[in-house]
Amino acid sequence: MIMSKNEKTLSIIKPDAVERNLDNEIKEIFKNNGFSILKEKKIQIEKSEAEKFYKVHETKPFYNDLCSYLSSGPIVVMVLEKANAVIDNRELMGATNPKEAKDGTIRKKYGISIDKNSVHGSDSIENAKIEIDFFFKD
Ligand code: UDP
Ligand code: MG
Repeated sequence: MIMSKNEKTLSIIKPDAVERNLDNEIKEIFKNNGFSILKEKKIQIEKSEAEKFYKVHETKPFYNDLCSYLSSGPIVVMVLEKANAVIDNRELMGATNPKEAKDGTIRKKYGISIDKNSVHGSDSIENAKIEIDFFFKD
C-alpha cells in the first residue's frame, strides 16, 4: 500500500458550530492532532451549491433538509493535510450521529443532533480530491 505523508482531505465546520463560535476551537483540535490547515475560507453557500456538493445523497429522505441546512449560515471550509488524513479525520470527527460518537471526537463534544453534527469530512481519497476541487479550484 502506498502511504502518502501529505494526504489531503476536505473538512467543513458546519453552520451549527460556526454559529456557536466554535470554529477556532475546532481548528485547534485539528492542529493538535497533527493536521496542517493548508487552505481555509469562511463562506456562505447557495442551496443550489449545497445540492451539488451533497449530490451523492440526492435520493435520501434527508437530502432537502441537509442542503437547506448547509446553506443556512456561514461555514468554514478547509483543506487538511497529514499522513492518512482522510481516515484520521473521519476518526477524529466521530460517528455521523453524535449520540453514537466516541468520547474525544469532535461530534461527541460539539454535535447537537444527526443533522447538526458540526463537521463534514471527505470519506475517501477520491472524494477528497473532488470536494477540494469543488471549493478551492480557481
Ligand atoms: N444526515 C442527516 N440525517 C441522516 C443521515 C445524515 O441529516 O439520517 C446528514 C448529516 O449532517 C451528515 C450528512 O447528512 O453529516 C451526510 O451524511 P453521511 O452519511 O455522508 O454522513 P457523514 O459522512 O457526514 O458522517
Ligand atoms: Mg459523508
